[in-house]
Amino acid sequence: MDSIGHWIGGRAVAGASGRTAPVYDPARGVQTGEVALASAAEVDGAVKLAVDAAAAWGETASSRRAGMLFRLRERLRAHRDDLAAVVTREHGKVLADAQGEVARGLDNVEFACGIPHLLKGAHSAEVSGGVDVHTVLQPVGVVAGITPFNFPVMVPLWMLANALACGNAFVLKPSEKDPSASLLLADLVQRAGFPDGTFTVIQGDAEAVVTLLEHPDVDAVSFVGSTAVARRVYETGTRHGKRVQALGGAKNHMVVLPDADVDAAADAAVSAGYGSAGERCMAISVVVAVGSVADTLVDAIAARLPGVEVGPGDDPAAMMGPLVTAEHRDRVRSYVADAAAEGARVVVDGSAAPGDGDGVFLGCSLVGGVEPGMRVYDDEIFGPVLSVVRVGTFDEAVALANANPYGNGAAVFTRDGGAARRFERTVKAGMVGVNVPIPVPVASHSFGGWKDSLFGDHDIYGPEGIRFYTRPKVVTSRWPDPASSEVDLGFPRSD
Ligand code: NAD
Repeated sequence: MDSIGHWIGGRAVAGASGRTAPVYDPARGVQTGEVALASAAEVDGAVKLAVDAAAAWGETASSRRAGMLFRLRERLRAHRDDLAAVVTREHGKVLADAQGEVARGLDNVEFACGIPHLLKGAHSAEVSGGVDVHTVLQPVGVVAGITPFNFPVMVPLWMLANALACGNAFVLKPSEKDPSASLLLADLVQRAGFPDGTFTVIQGDAEAVVTLLEHPDVDAVSFVGSTAVARRVYETGTRHGKRVQALGGAKNHMVVLPDADVDAAADAAVSAGYGSAGERCMAISVVVAVGSVADTLVDAIAARLPGVEVGPGDDPAAMMGPLVTAEHRDRVRSYVADAAAEGARVVVDGSAAPGDGDGVFLGCSLVGGVEPGMRVYDDEIFGPVLSVVRVGTFDEAVALANANPYGNGAAVFTRDGGAARRFERTVKAGMVGVNVPIPVPVASHSFGGWKDSLFGDHDIYGPEGIRFYTRPKVVTSRWPDPASSEVDLGFPRSD
């Protein structure tokens, strides 16, 4: 059984708290390891080392930091299959999906390789007689990243690439459900030449998170996870004087207009609804069928579901792996079980586990006749359950999506450019897809939802990530001729 510990001061460190949590291979339903759960004292010790490392790292030339990021990119590329295999083993997603996750994480390292350019400030010459102004972007200091189970490589890379590039020390607290990828990342960061203490991994649960949120030496916190925890992280972190960005859950609506290509829309709904067993914050969980398209669309989606091969992620034939834990599988199953009693219609019931091993599998479920107020609509299920809501008009579809408390992604499927543009302008979501069901922005843009999908003022990664991980300073300077210097008690003005 693997014993999964921390990465502190540039090396692997065993847990000392005496507390651990089990780690599973969900495809086989067996425990493969136990992860250390850090005590407050262990977190404190790691943060102290990070403070020391941040001081020197923040003074390191940006070109040197970029050089290390280029080396990290090469090491990540060389070990992309190892990373994907670890993700598949502990999370369960199929290998091709895990490889996609690693690739999208790598994009963020490539973006951060341009850090000398990204940190260029502004300069205004001669704003007043002999006076120039320039801005500099300085590191924040020690930043913590708290990450969810569903992207154990990509989400840490969303954070660590830019945080380190900007000259901060970064402390990662990964999900305790699939913690091993974090140690592989730490080893690669170390071998790329980043100094000891600039990258730390603290394994743990709420105790570690609360300690980070209250720690006086942690300057900023990036969080990605469920809305209930995101809200608490934002409130606690800001109360303790930190800069916080806290990304939460989602209920992403895909609106299909009557003129859409039904086959393309059905393919997209199945791909985005059931990919990674629905355990994606950008998964489509609600299809909004507008007007006459509803019956054909539901039939087209249902017809595709028997073709979704469910199996262990390391089986090349599998298209959808297991859920992350048996507990989560049972919770997802309860939504399908309760749907009919709520007044919805279970069109396809995937809640009987395919296969006969101990793996925590579910099939694909499709629920029609869904309406707000039903649990299956109101809650983020985070599993392979797709709901269909029927509405009469475009305006009703947008109103439905906008009334939902979440606002991560939203998509419209149509051939009508004007309708697509109206959707883009009026839908209240941070990321919008036009005939694209999962509009996750590329690394040179930024990722973030609206409403209960994000707490804080900055989106994550891309240009917003650089802003989050730096503090601007504005310098006003004058180099007077000593001969013309005089006492002047008036307020400086530029006219
Ligand atoms: P989670 O909120 O349970 O856990 C996220 C992190 O918070 C983990 O590191 C966990 O250890 C920690 N945590 C859990 N409970 C805590 C508590 N009470 N106090 C302090 N820390 C706590 O989320 P999860 O189940 O790991 O991930 C799935 C959720 O993440 C879904 O809601 C999904 O939508 C969301 N998510 C959002 C995005 C996004 O970009 N908006 C991306 C990925 C996942």
